[in-house]
Amino acid sequence: MSKTMRGLVKQSAAPGEFVFRDDLPVPEIGDDEVLIKVHCTAICGTDMHIIEWEDWSQKHVQPPIIPGHETAGDIVAVGRNVKDRKVGDRVSCESHIACGECYFCTHGLGQICKNVKLFGCSVDGAFAEYAKIPAASTFLLDDAISYEAACMFEPMGAGVHGAEAAEVEGKTVLVSGCGPIGLTAVSACKTFGAKLVIACDLVDDRLEMAKKMGADVTVNSGREDLRGTVLKLTDGIGVDAAIDITGAGAAINAGLKCVRAAGRMVCVGLPTKPVTMDLTNDLIYREVELTGISGRRIWETWTDFAKVMNGPYFQLDLVMGRRFALEDFHQAVEAIRSGETGKMLIYP
Ligand SMILES: [Zn+2]
Ligand SMILES: [Zn+2]
Repeated sequence: MSKTMRGLVKQSAAPGEFVFRDDLPVPEIGDDEVLIKVHCTAICGTDMHIIEWEDWSQKHVQPPIIPGHETAGDIVAVGRNVKDRKVGDRVSCESHIACGECYFCTHGLGQICKNVKLFGCSVDGAFAEYAKIPAASTFLLDDAISYEAACMFEPMGAGVHGAEAAEVEGKTVLVSGCGPIGLTAVSACKTFGAKLVIACDLVDDRLEMAKKMGADVTVNSGREDLRGTVLKLTDGIGVDAAIDITGAGAAINAGLKCVRAAGRMVCVGLPTKPVTMDLTNDLIYREVELTGISGRRIWETWTDFAKVMNGPYFQLDLVMGRRFALEDFHQAVEAIRSGETGKMLIYP
């Protein structure tokens, strides 16, 4: 194997696009790590934030770094302590690299590990020919799952995790926001046995896709009366659960008002500023439960997502965007900036 590789680098702690390099050292693995020959890596909203160097990036990213965390490929080397992975295994990666030792890790909550490292943010990631990661952060892929589909587990897993947290089986559910993660949440709700899924968004094209992914009813909340529709469909009491993917204060409040008394609201989308709510009337008097989710439950969400993917509702082609070579990363960024939807894939 050659000692150098091609890859992208976030060079400095300032706004600026990733720089293509062909002289990066191939990562040397530690005893508990594996080396992955990357097949493809999807571009995340987080990568766009790293390029723009917003607040979050300034706190969590330490340049120079190889970004990219939604990836899949083949294991080409394993560290000496690694027993349950071998050369040739096809894997995807959990980007929340948990320490395995803190309170949260030892209580089945590795996704909110106190010492979490972020693949492609705080440690080198996968916009490169090779990437290293602890074996414990790799997910073995079934032969039936393509590398491209495997790149979707990390980003869309949040939608699946949202549906898990809402415990949707036999329930009426509202999903607010029908981008790729919302569409995944819609299909997860249906796959997990929700009785009725109402999807809302402001864009009709997205609502069409939500229907194809299993939504029973769609509402354009810009034009239609969301709460009125929800009450009509639920005998006047509201949905058992609402899942917010938008992170928009107005949508979170609208969703909360659609939840029945003693129902549950799950927040998945990240508001960029504090959200004001009427806790007295919308939450406390009505005994509504409000919760958030971060990333994916390791590995429950991953195995659940495999079920969603193989189920009758999820449609990969509806969430997938265009494919680009590593050298053409800039074109993919331009496509995203121009508003093109779907996850863009980068091939090293
Ligand atoms: Zn991501
Ligand atoms: Zn931990």
